[in-house]
Amino acid sequence: MNAPVKEPEVLISEVGPRDGLQSVKATMPTAQKLRWIDALAASGLREIEVGSFVPAKLLPQMADTAEVVRHALTHPGLTVMALVPNVRGAESALRAGVHKITIPVSASAAHSMANVRKTREEMIAEVRAIARLRDEVAPGVKIETGMSTAFGCTIQGEVKEEEVVWLASECIAAGADEVGLSDTSGVANPAQVRRLFNKVRGAIGDKTGAAHMHNTRGLGLANCLAAWDVGVRTFDSSLGGLGGCPFAPGASGNVVTEDLVFMFEAMGVSTGVDLLALIAARAAMEAGLPGEPVYGMTPAAGLPKGWAQGVVAA
Ligand code: ZN
Repeated sequence: MNAPVKEPEVLISEVGPRDGLQSVKATMPTAQKLRWIDALAASGLREIEVGSFVPAKLLPQMADTAEVVRHALTHPGLTVMALVPNVRGAESALRAGVHKITIPVSASAAHSMANVRKTREEMIAEVRAIARLRDEVAPGVKIETGMSTAFGCTIQGEVKEEEVVWLASECIAAGADEVGLSDTSGVANPAQVRRLFNKVRGAIGDKTGAAHMHNTRGLGLANCLAAWDVGVRTFDSSLGGLGGCPFAPGASGNVVTEDLVFMFEAMGVSTGVDLLALIAARAAMEAGLPGEPVYGMTPAAGLPKGWAQGVVAA
């Protein structure tokens, strides 16, 4: 490790093993997943979304999530997170011992029906039921709702900002600990990101959670920086930008973790992640997904001459 290590000022939440794998056709063998997660944890990442608890017939890639959770729990200091769409999934996640649950709630009414076949009001009821279960059996577990299509929707187009604010407040009232905003369809721009995070913060204060940005149109990092400017301190991203864009075949999806860490560290904002170790973790991912496209400018270009991470240039 490099000498003076600063306290991390942002939390990079790695979503590749869930968001990324869920969007690719191939199923990564469990042993490869575990090696990949070990490599991610070794780079200093402190939060990983390791899978989702959904029926195996819907998503065979996620059939081994309970086993992956149990393995991830062996890394001290790592927050192990999983996605659950409903109470049944939450029961499995809590049984496996996750630290944190994320529930997808669509801001767009049309996307909600298409994605989970429930109205937004029905999803709020689901959040309430999951929070009640958590309170009973595992009160220490945190619940995040990740609000997909918060910045626009491929089905209905515009999503009204007042509806995002309304839904964020409802999720908190239902028992969620935080609400993150996701640019699922990759349409957000920095001005919109600042405005919407400010509005949501105005309604739910410090329960405002992560920025989950996509790089579909090249604005992923710009949107993360805009979110940072208005006080967001948790950022979702995936190693190698794994996942692509479900709505635009061939286009990139999640913000690339390596580029995001490079941006913050170059700014003197500590991430707690060792960039060289992070780039090295790509090998473990690629070994488990041969032929799958991966993205990232920093891994391709290499680190600048004199790169000294954790030390702010005088
Ligand atoms: Zn995503």
